[in-house]
Amino acid sequence: MGAGIAGPALAYWLARNGYRPTVVEHARQLGSGGSAIVVKGPAIPVAERMGVLPQLRGLATRNRSLTLLTPDGRRVLRLLLASDQAPTVEVTRADLSEVLHRSAQTEAEFLFDDTVTALDQDAGGVDVTFRRSAPRRFDLVVGADGMHSTVRRLVFGPERQFVSNLGLYGATVPLEPDAVEDPSEMTMLSVPNRMLVVHLSRTTPLAIFTFRAARSVPHDRKNVALHKQTVADAYADVGWRAPEFVAAFLDHPAPFFDPLTTVRMPAWSRERVVLLGDAAAATALLGDGSSRAMAGAYALAEELAAHPGDHARAFAAYESRLRREVGPRQRRVGPLSRLMVPRTRPGLAVRNAVGRAVGRTNRITSRQAANR
Ligand SMILES: Cc1cc2nc3c(=O)[nH]c(=O)nc-3n(C[C@H](O)[C@H](O)[C@H](O)COP(=O)(O)OP(=O)(O)OC[C@H]3O[C@@H](n4cnc5c(N)ncnc54)[C@H](O)[C@@H]3O)c2cc1C
Repeated sequence: MGAGIAGPALAYWLARNGYRPTVVEHARQLGSGGSAIVVKGPAIPVAERMGVLPQLRGLATRNRSLTLLTPDGRRVLRLLLASDQAPTVEVTRADLSEVLHRSAQTEAEFLFDDTVTALDQDAGGVDVTFRRSAPRRFDLVVGADGMHSTVRRLVFGPERQFVSNLGLYGATVPLEPDAVEDPSEMTMLSVPNRMLVVHLSRTTPLAIFTFRAARSVPHDRKNVALHKQTVADAYADVGWRAPEFVAAFLDHPAPFFDPLTTVRMPAWSRERVVLLGDAAAATALLGDGSSRAMAGAYALAEELAAHPGDHARAFAAYESRLRREVGPRQRRVGPLSRLMVPRTRPGLAVRNAVGRAVGRTNRITSRQAANR
């Protein structure tokens, strides 16, 4: 279930291996816009084998540099991002999802505007009840329905057992077309506990708020009023263009808002149900969730093909292949969150120094800053 990144990638590979996959997605259609994400590492060979890498390169965003601002909005540092020749490609999450969906749609069945409400498994299969479609029986069920997975809740238990909030929240809102001056530049303002990034997400400028809130906000995607109040409160005393971006957030009917979380499951499968992508092992902030989702989909399809008729061994082999990498990565998320969104001004100075040390940088002189 889920037609985000992992779901359509898995459907493509399952269909190639002779399965007849059905993908259930609760949205009416695939989304548009969205944050820019980098397809990299293990996802590149998967995209190559799917034949979608040229399409992704054609949809690449134009972000070429990240400019850091002081709390009062002066430009202090520019980090150079990947070039066109880099073995990675940055696209919007929506474009990636759309490209993967197009590859899979001729061979897999997609049910949009529907969801699973009950799963009942026995030795021979899984009986699935849908919100809209008639009940059906499947051999296997894959929960590729993201961080707040319903498949995980139905089969493994409530979300609170497996999901830990990093104490940070992420919120995004599209902006007016003229909100970004330089389409190749991402701009980031940081003040203690809050970060604000603005960039062109291929065709639409996007503001991204990443922050610690004064009070914890429970996950409830329908409580838009609470999301708006939380962002407005968090950025009330932030300067530069924060008031303009907060106003856009308040005006939008359904801006994106979610706690940044990690998902840690003791096991990724139970009998005939298996979890994939963020549903199994989300690692917020590392910036590779989409790539891991694609690589995980490929690995799961490969193990199912390698163990015909033995899903238990296939699921175990898939989990052990991926879990080796997930554990150490998840341990990095806490320290990374403190480095990326420091609590104090000295912490911000440390973060910028790390940025200078690890990135290819152009230090912006005070004269350049004044000319901008
Ligand atoms: C603000 C933000 C910035 C990010 N930046 C990056 C980045 O720079 N690089 C990167 O690699 N990753 C990034 N990520 C993470 C990345 O988006 C995820 O790791 C990736 O999308 C996981 O893919 P997935 O297929 O597992 O889940 P998702 O992409 O979340 O897809 C899940 C799908 O399931 C559907 N669904 C959910 N519940 C149900 C239900 N009950 N019934 C039916 N369908 C359902 C959803 O609508 C969705 O289509 C970012 C995430 C966020 C929120």
